Amino acid sequence: METVIGIDLGTTNSCVAVVEGGQPVVIANRGGYKTTPSMVAITEAGKRLVGHIAKRQAVTNAEHTVFAAKRLIGRKWDSQQVQNAVTNCPYTIVKGPHNDVRIQLRGKVYSVPEVSAMILQEMKMIAEDYLGHSVEKAVITVPAYFNDGQRQATKDSGRIAGLDVIRIINEPTAAALAYGFGKTQDKTVAVYDLGGGTFDISILEISGTGVFKVVSTAGDTFLGGEDFDLRIIQWLVDSFRDEHGIDLREDRMALQRLKDAAEKAKCELSAVEQTEVNLPFIISNARNEALHLQRALGRPQLEELTRDLVERTVQTCEQTLEEAGLDKDEIEEVILVGGMTRMPLVQRCVEKFFEREPSKGVHPDEVVALGAAIQGMALTQEQSEMILLDVTPHTLGIMVVGGYFEELIPLNTTVPTSRSKVFTTVRDNQTAVKILVMQGESHRADENELLGEFILTGLRKAPIGQVEVEVTFEINADGIVSVHAKDLETGQQQSITVTATSGLTVDEIQNMVSEAKDFAVARRQSDEAEGVTQDAQKLIAQIEQLFPEVEQVVAGSDFGRDAIEKARGVVEKARALIKAGKLDELSEQIDALARTQRMFKGVVGKVS
Ligand code: AMP
Repeated sequence: METVIGIDLGTTNSCVAVVEGGQPVVIANRGGYKTTPSMVAITEAGKRLVGHIAKRQAVTNAEHTVFAAKRLIGRKWDSQQVQNAVTNCPYTIVKGPHNDVRIQLRGKVYSVPEVSAMILQEMKMIAEDYLGHSVEKAVITVPAYFNDGQRQATKDSGRIAGLDVIRIINEPTAAALAYGFGKTQDKTVAVYDLGGGTFDISILEISGTGVFKVVSTAGDTFLGGEDFDLRIIQWLVDSFRDEHGIDLREDRMALQRLKDAAEKAKCELSAVEQTEVNLPFIISNARNEALHLQRALGRPQLEELTRDLVERTVQTCEQTLEEAGLDKDEIEEVILVGGMTRMPLVQRCVEKFFEREPSKGVHPDEVVALGAAIQGMALTQEQSEMILLDVTPHTLGIMVVGGYFEELIPLNTTVPTSRSKVFTTVRDNQTAVKILVMQGESHRADENELLGEFILTGLRKAPIGQVEVEVTFEINADGIVSVHAKDLETGQQQSITVTATSGLTVDEIQNMVSEAKDFAVARRQSDEAEGVTQDAQKLIAQIEQLFPEVEQVVAGSDFGRDAIEKARGVVEKARALIKAGKLDELSEQIDALARTQRMFKGVVGKVS
């Protein structure tokens, strides 16, 4: 039987799993980590870096390092979310030819599916290294609240990465699959999924016979850990401006260091009550003096800064329960998914809302990939007992006369599905109709999102209301929409698969597929030569080189001396690990080396 991998393509981290001997397992990457940062960078020498290695150099190469591409995938350039990202991201986001979003790295413009494909390709290679053979098929997960364009663009990413994406499934549904796999009891569960960039809540009925039925789903594709980080960054930037009159946002390297530090502080505060954000030599002032940023941050203050974000998720939970027609006490299990659910405030609020303690039995970072692998297995088995019934997260319809929105498929309808409605002409002798395909919950068309449009021509000339056009919407099991319109008298037809927002033509995708293939070959060859030891040695050499300059700059400052002492300790420990051949521990130590190298570069770069 052909191997199908399950990939959780996350905003912050990605994870790949496979079913082996009937059991789903997560596959660790070369460094031994079970999740890989969803980051891509192009170095000055034009080399592509993906995952941990991209993350490590993000501060010194901030302009050419992409993170959180998932927040941009399948979106339109002029959407508010994209415009916010343009302001907040250290990398350059530009407008694509189809009002889509593109990313510029080292002078080359990439589409977002192409960037995501680089991550998927990395996940494919991780699986191939582990399995010892090539892998062609995958199930990829997306947030339940992803719209048609975002799903289609994710599928394009898979194609570019050389994968046959046999199914796109929703993340909370995948989590429920992994949770319910092998269990024999009927249960109604809520999956609360708060990741790096998106929030989803789904209510499912799991039957002991293997039927997983989603009852309702809701979410926000622009609410996640990144927003929590931004609140901390904002607070740090404001307080630094009050103290020194300097806006740190204007310095890309400082912004990237702030981002790293904010995320680190947020994660630490899930385990401890108090932490410190410590960024030596963050910037220099007009007199060319180095300035440091040092702030204490307590858990209560973090909670104050982010409480409204958590409350927004709770309101969405309330809404989805209402749509499911269920009371809280009918939910028998609450499953927490996504790295952000480690935050105590999130756990407290979810527990308070559902009036029950969330389930402890699933790993929030791995459960989605495990579920995708299980679904992959079920789709390739001849006689699988597992049935997955998901729903559409948005109402779909068309614009009708007067600017109103006429619904064809209401939200939370089980997919795959197909619905038709007959419309009549609105003018005498009307020979063409323009079909505007939309999704959203407003009765006014302009408040909903336009997915695509097409024109049905050649209608017979007749008085108003006499020509009948049948419009049919179909949603397949991936949640992807296609629409057909038919003149009932002549049989004349037009149809589209709503692909416009992916912004890529078939030719473009084909070119990207071959480029990605070439890269895979080159990458495999260089893999042998590289490795954790080389990474560490390179960083050690760079730090060593910078020591004399740094010492000169910080002469006379206690703070600087401490930093230098710490740096020596980091280097010595790494050397000892190389000598002892302790590669797992060395990969951990590389993060500390990278932080030291960044700090040193900051010092000599800013105060010279
Ligand atoms: P995911 O998309 O599920 O990988 O979740 C990633 C998000 O979870 C990022 O915003 C991380 O900063 C956040 N995260 C990971 N670990 C923790 C933690 N211990 N406490 C708070 N947030 C965390």
